Amino acid sequence: MEVEDLSINFETLYGTLKVLNGVNFIINEGEIVGLVGESGCGKSTFALSIMGLLPPQAKLMGGKIYFQNSEINVLDEKFMEKIRGRKISMVFQEPLTSLNPILTIGEQLMEAIKIGSDKKDVKKEEALKWLKRVGIPDPERTLKRYPHELSGGMRQRIMIIMALATKPSLLIADEPTTALDVTTQAQILKLMKNLVKENKVSVLFISHDLGVIAQIADRVAVMYAGKIVEESKIFEIFENPLHPYTKDLLSSIPKLEGKSEKLPTIKGSVPNLLNLPEGCIYHTRCKYVMDNCKVKEPELKEYLTKRKVACFLY
Ligand code: SF4
Repeated sequence: MEVEDLSINFETLYGTLKVLNGVNFIINEGEIVGLVGESGCGKSTFALSIMGLLPPQAKLMGGKIYFQNSEINVLDEKFMEKIRGRKISMVFQEPLTSLNPILTIGEQLMEAIKIGSDKKDVKKEEALKWLKRVGIPDPERTLKRYPHELSGGMRQRIMIIMALATKPSLLIADEPTTALDVTTQAQILKLMKNLVKENKVSVLFISHDLGVIAQIADRVAVMYAGKIVEESKIFEIFENPLHPYTKDLLSSIPKLEGKSEKLPTIKGSVPNLLNLPEGCIYHTRCKYVMDNCKVKEPELKEYLTKRKVACFLY
């Protein structure tokens, strides 16, 4: 998947919101890429644009999206129907809104397996195999149960295997573990990582939490006010963050060692998308701001080996 210079505005009663501003992004085959940023920075709009699921107030201002070397037209609903849920699958934060409440888990899972295998009939054993792979207790009984009868963690496991059973090339996971407790979250992330690596699926994993992304991603892109400001391998981001925003995000993650102290927060707030600041979009909050930053916009440029950063400090 390659996204080139994608810009999206939302027309609202209050004016035009510049939600995505020239996003360039690549996900290689079999790679898990994290997309991190505060809420409202454009992460979910980015995911919805790839799926062709933008709300009616969204306006595509420019840019191209390529998938498996062909350009995809996200505005062509018929075309998108062919790839959505087949070549590209999605897992959302709240599985209750994605699972059908009036169908059993077995009916829904078998339908997903049918899509992935192009078979007319799917044996129950195949569905049981998927449930066992993600440690669902009493899988025979679970097949006959309805979504509301399962716990949040179980439902999320079901959503993940349903998304993978369709045999997609790309899986988009938007905050898939945010509603879960930390232990269940860690179990599900481990499971998801194993499953996607086994099935050689590429993943776009969206979260506001760098700590969560660290548990699953190979590479991470940091988004701020609809722009990618840094892109690096996950260990490089933790060892040596480059962009001042990434540094601020990292310092607000709780650490296991050391005395318990109040965590620093990032001063100021995310800029108003109705009226983005001139120059560098982070200059209103940046500790290192220089005169130049207030008038000129830094480009996302390669730095050292395969790292990218949009900041005049580099
Ligand atoms: Fe801070 Fe300037 Fe870098 Fe922007 S370009 S992040 S304001 S130092």
